[in-house]
Amino acid sequence: MALNQQSGRVFDAVVVGAGFSGLYMLHRLREAGYSVRVYEAADDVGGTWYWNRYPGARCDIESIYYNYTFSKEILNEWTWSSRYAEQPEILSYINFVADKLDLRRDIQFKTRITAARYNEENRNWEIRMDDGTSVVTEYFITALGCLSSSNIPKIKGLDSFKGEMYHTGRWPHKKVDFSSKRVGVIGTGSSGIQAIPVIAKEAGHLTVFQRTPQYSCPAQNHPLEEEDIRKTWENYDETKQLMRYSQHGVPYGPRMRSALEDSPEERERLYEKAWQEGGLFTLTYNYNDIAMLPESNETAASFIRSKIKQIVHDPEVAQKLMPTYYYATKRPIIDTNYFETYNRENVSLVDIKAAPIMEITPDGIKTTDNEYELDVLVFATGFDAMTGPLFKIDIRGKNDVSLKDKWADGSELKTYLGLATSGFPNMFMLTGPQSPSVLSNMMVSIEQHVDWVADCIDYLREHHLEAFEATEKAEAFWSQQCHAIADMSLLTKTDSWYMGANIDGKPRGFLAFAGGVGLYRIICDDIAARGYEGFTSVLAHDSTDDSKVKEGFFMSNIDPQAWFILKQLESAGAPPMELLTPELARMGDFSLLAGAPEEVAKVENRTIPVPEGEIPVRIYTPAGEGPFPALVYYHGGGWVIGNLDTVDVPCRMLANRAGCVVVSVDYRLAPEHKFPTAAEDSYAAAKWVAENAASIQVDPERIAVGGDSAGGNLAAVVALMAREQGGPSFAYQMLIYPVTNHAYDTDSYRDNAEGYFLTKNTMVWFWNHYLRNEEDGQNPYASPLLAEDLSGLPPALVITAGFDPLRDEGEAYAERLKAAGVPVEVTRYDGMIHGFFWMPGVLAEAHNAINQAANALKQAFSAVKTI
Ligand code: FAD
Ligand code: NAP
Repeated sequence: MALNQQSGRVFDAVVVGAGFSGLYMLHRLREAGYSVRVYEAADDVGGTWYWNRYPGARCDIESIYYNYTFSKEILNEWTWSSRYAEQPEILSYINFVADKLDLRRDIQFKTRITAARYNEENRNWEIRMDDGTSVVTEYFITALGCLSSSNIPKIKGLDSFKGEMYHTGRWPHKKVDFSSKRVGVIGTGSSGIQAIPVIAKEAGHLTVFQRTPQYSCPAQNHPLEEEDIRKTWENYDETKQLMRYSQHGVPYGPRMRSALEDSPEERERLYEKAWQEGGLFTLTYNYNDIAMLPESNETAASFIRSKIKQIVHDPEVAQKLMPTYYYATKRPIIDTNYFETYNRENVSLVDIKAAPIMEITPDGIKTTDNEYELDVLVFATGFDAMTGPLFKIDIRGKNDVSLKDKWADGSELKTYLGLATSGFPNMFMLTGPQSPSVLSNMMVSIEQHVDWVADCIDYLREHHLEAFEATEKAEAFWSQQCHAIADMSLLTKTDSWYMGANIDGKPRGFLAFAGGVGLYRIICDDIAARGYEGFTSVLAHDSTDDSKVKEGFFMSNIDPQAWFILKQLESAGAPPMELLTPELARMGDFSLLAGAPEEVAKVENRTIPVPEGEIPVRIYTPAGEGPFPALVYYHGGGWVIGNLDTVDVPCRMLANRAGCVVVSVDYRLAPEHKFPTAAEDSYAAAKWVAENAASIQVDPERIAVGGDSAGGNLAAVVALMAREQGGPSFAYQMLIYPVTNHAYDTDSYRDNAEGYFLTKNTMVWFWNHYLRNEEDGQNPYASPLLAEDLSGLPPALVITAGFDPLRDEGEAYAERLKAAGVPVEVTRYDGMIHGFFWMPGVLAEAHNAINQAANALKQAFSAVKTI
């Protein structure tokens, strides 16, 4: 392709595609004063709704939410006729918006973009059209649609068919006449399921060629009253917020309850209610784990199968229609009389998994066991989704590398936020791969992407920045994130177009971001607010600033899983702990982070005596014959919050892996019980274990103390107390990111003061509740780092986290122990945050740390034995 010199006009931005995305992008940029040109292959606006004119085509998100929200005026001037509008009405809406905003004057129709090449010297793109002409643009924005590249399977004999052939995604403008004809439909995805009931009514005979049966629920479509629409528009600001910060872009979400928590009768009642109500998410939103847990999923799946059995009269046909994959791991489908259609005399179902299609003949379809004569053949066979439309353009970035080659292997598909990819500066992909797009109400995703890109371009112009590009580090991070999140669910366990599995030879890999549109928006906004972290850019040639390259910065080495947890916690919108009362702060539930508790041979809850009272303990005894070594464990929580449940999961894991009894101690909390109560309770508990060892199957010679955070502080303090107050003698101390000093003057406090789960302010709040006065803070039983002499203490394991305000004081304590001659193993988990030790439900590193601690304990215990 010739370079810029031979090109035609120069634009600030070229947008490819005139569907919902491209039209709004044009509007935003034009309003901001940029010169923009949109190129569209079709002869008019509409995108999806221009091309997919098949009978029965309608939206699956309620129309009142499946529209633009950026303009109150547009909202107020439009009404929808029904809950799920049909394609012609949606297309009219798009035309109405295009007219209202006078968009067509900047759109060149009937023009396909065939190539786009980045010019490194000029820092701009040359865009080439199918008529051989080209233009130059600074920003190249793809609004190609995720589902715009139709998939017609390469079946032998395809071109020999004498009848009419259509693909749902390339439907002709004229009405297709099915009357009295023998019609075949291949495909039973959303498109097929919408088209089949309508075609069946008209056709002489309809044969459906089904490869995979589908779950589908009734849409329960109905006309909308104008009054209802008006009311929705009146409260739209609030509705909009709910949509924007939701999982799927609708103003409601799942009930926070597992399907397994309800009785079968209650589940049946709720599923039946959802079936009657209709809607895309109604059934799944009864519970929050249908897409996560196979057992929960099966409750919904079997309900739908039972409905198919009820509806379809012929049991053999019903059986063929029963899906078995995990429900909702393909985009859920809603229908109008789909299963009922198989009760019609003129409809037959062919299972092409049992008897595959051999070839298309001039007269119809030949399967391995039959021949079907057809006049019309409809392909409802879907799309080469997400990457398909991008790969149809020869997009070349820096060093002439093509996007197709860069992403040749599925595991290599790397984007940053689904918006950009390294090596392709100034190129933005609207609803691109690895964004939430297809998993959501696309309108919410589209508006969010367009707004983000428009704001970004404003920023670049204001700061005289050019060649804006995602870094390799950022895209590796994001891609890892996308895979990790998808893998947490059942989404990756099904062959679907989300996985690229519908196209022969397409590399497999989950193509979207499954963390939800709300979280995604927060992440994108956060990255923009940090000066577009994860992107690099270059100062404009004509800038007066003499610094050459303005490197973007990226969020250091934080572990992607930990970062995701932080963003989720942030998006939950909980107030900082220091603004709560201790009672309220204690109500926080982090059990999801801890994960499922594993079985331990015996778990006993009891109380033990301490000075002036008694406290609860939980004793975990592993399988096997005692006496066992023991770990006395103190939970974290800044001496103010936390309890036995907080650390139940790691205690179970430690008991099983270290083969020791774990006695978890519920010491009394501040501010009701200030310093030194927690320390004294902890010491009393350790002494109780030593003194009552036989009664709990413990070997008194092999007792360790340990804990995390404030619990690590207590473990260190108990070791000091035991040395100074006559025992017992401990085999080991296991200090997980311990608090060791009442001071805030370390680098880790400065670097990690906020944004990494435990904040400096929260730590100040904890200390203030715990200590009676400043003097207490100097007491080694509060700040063991200040103890004059640390010699003679038990060997220690000190684990710290890179992104923890307490990192440096933990490591300083390890250094002092070493200097005092105490054997110490110290490990920093670089990418981790405070608290990670009790988050094995979501962090792989928690498993590593727990295994490390268990091995260290085992070794320490066996060292005692050999003495
Ligand atoms: P599109 O509407 O696909 O527009 C992309 C445009 O780019 C097309 O017009 C195409 O011609 C043009 N184009 C592509 N490549 C080139 C090129 N090289 N040169 C020039 N032009 C090019 N989503 C929902 O959220 N809810 C729904 O109910 C829903 N229903 C759907 C129903 C169907 C039948 C389909 C197929 C999809 C549906 N979707 C739905 C997804 C739908 O695609 C989006 O909601 C939305 O319409 C996408 O808008 P877009 O502008 O991003 O892409
Ligand atoms: P799809 O979901 O990919 O379904 C394609 C169908 O064709 C599947 O049944 C598939 O079978 C079958 N198929 C594909 N290749 C085949 C082959 N070689 N031989 C035989 N059968 C084959 O495509 P779609 O129905 O067009 O929907 C795509 C997406 O568009 C939807 O998921 C949705 O996001 C959107 N959409 C939405 C609506 C709506 O309700 N608003 C309507 C239409 C589309 P397998 O399952 O075995 O692969």
